[in-house]
Amino acid sequence: MYVSMKGMLDRANKGKYAVMAINCFNLETAKAVIDAAQELRAPIIVDLLQEHLMEHLGSKLLTQPIIEMANASSVEVAINLDHGQDIGFVKRCLKDGFSSVMMDASAYPIEKNIEITRNMVAFAQTYDASVEGEIGSIGSISGNQMTNNDMYTQPDIAIDFALKTGIDALAISYGSSHGNYQEGFVPEFRFDIVEKIKQATNIPLVLHGGSGCGEENIRRSIELGINKINVGSDFMNAQCQRLKRDLKANPELSYFDLIHRTVSAGKELVKYYIRLSQSVNKSI
Ligand SMILES: [Zn+2]
Repeated sequence: MYVSMKGMLDRANKGKYAVMAINCFNLETAKAVIDAAQELRAPIIVDLLQEHLMEHLGSKLLTQPIIEMANASSVEVAINLDHGQDIGFVKRCLKDGFSSVMMDASAYPIEKNIEITRNMVAFAQTYDASVEGEIGSIGSISGNQMTNNDMYTQPDIAIDFALKTGIDALAISYGSSHGNYQEGFVPEFRFDIVEKIKQATNIPLVLHGGSGCGEENIRRSIELGINKINVGSDFMNAQCQRLKRDLKANPELSYFDLIHRTVSAGKELVKYYIRLSQSVNKSI
């Protein structure tokens, strides 16, 4: 069934587990994610990144077929715009049927971020859609260098932001980065940040850059109040690795077979994360 993130994240907040949000960019990746959730009876979020929608398949082409997949599924499925930075684009996605959007105005000064996000919360209400906001700046990796050294969310500012905007979920930055870490590198998390923000706001908190964080970091994050975990790179990597391995073993493989094998590798990776997030059997 097709739903917004609100109900599934509120229940995750009460039940102290997390819902997985996986970056998809075409129908095959969305199908892999929804099939994995269906098999484990887990609520799931199909995360469509603004950048991917602009560079690959647009919102109009993708949204309706994914909504049909969601409605054909017996578990809760939300479509969320990931890192919507262009206000006009975010509004268009809501008009196209997204059940949730992330309004990422984190690049603006705090007062402007509050104003933009609060206005988007009001706009999204007319579509019965949920809104995720971001405070602080989640790091990203360029080569082997972290591009952002000053990446930790300041709890006081985040608490104020949550109260003033009325968002349904808040992305905070406490040690993870987008992209792939160097082999063997496990990031150091500042769990005190999660704890403080959760205690003061009690709203669903979001971990971005969930790939490569390590099981211990993820478990502790959930214990302290993370209720949505975004994973993109690990999902792509699982599919890429399968493609490389199978092509090496059999260079004559057809494109059709390759696509099917990558979808199945992606699905297994999503099932791994659903188990880790403790959302198995949590769909209504
Ligand atoms: Zn992100």
